[in-house]
Amino acid sequence: MPEYHVLRKDREIVDPDEIMDIVRRQAILTIGMAWEGVPYLVTVNYAYDARRKAFYFHSARAGKKVDYLEANPSVWCQILEDRGYIAGTCDWSYRSVHFPGTARFVRDSQEARHALSLLLDKLEPDPGVRRRLLGEADLREVAVCRIDPGPFTGKENPGPTAGG
Ligand SMILES: Cc1cc2nc3c(=O)[nH]c(=O)nc-3n(C[C@H](O)[C@H](O)[C@H](O)COP(=O)(O)OP(=O)(O)OC[C@H]3O[C@@H](n4cnc5c(N)ncnc54)[C@H](O)[C@@H]3O)c2cc1C
Repeated sequence: MPEYHVLRKDREIVDPDEIMDIVRRQAILTIGMAWEGVPYLVTVNYAYDARRKAFYFHSARAGKKVDYLEANPSVWCQILEDRGYIAGTCDWSYRSVHFPGTARFVRDSQEARHALSLLLDKLEPDPGVRRRLLGEADLREVAVCRIDPGPFTGKENPGPTAGG
């Protein structure tokens, strides 16, 4: 299989800090997967643990994505920063990040609680609600999935200033 690079060099984001900025600010991850050659994708809310270099999301313990990821942990992911329509251009402004990854369901309850805590820190602004939800989380019902990412690529369409 050939190795691909961002074709539009004028739109490639090469600064790792800018890529991490997108990862930190955004909350939604689209995960592409395949099982026996049949593709599937889901969108989830994620938290990124910079120290462990790992993405986490929570999920029901059963369902199609769980079966897919357990059968084949190789995934391809996208994070999108949607900057909206660029008036008069029939074009859309965005920054996005892609990466390959390996997914696995976290069996260690300490790591799972850590991941839920990161997710709550990211998503829930009320500290009292964060504490309550974390206290109520039942790891027999909630699955936590970890994705260890490979190399990131970044791309942007900043709008007309970049020459379209
Ligand atoms: C913004 C956003 C954030 C989300 N955050 C999370 C999250 O953090 N964790 C999480 O587990 N899920 C999240 N979801 C829901 C997620 O995208 C899946 O719908 C869900 O995880 C169920 O996936 P499954 O494969 O187990 O579904 P199943 O119910 O097992 O899938 C069976 C079939 O249902 C259909 N289906 C499944 N999901 C969808 C869907 N979203 N829309 C239309 N058809 C669908 C598919 O055709 C699939 O073949 C989020 C969705 C959105 C849009």
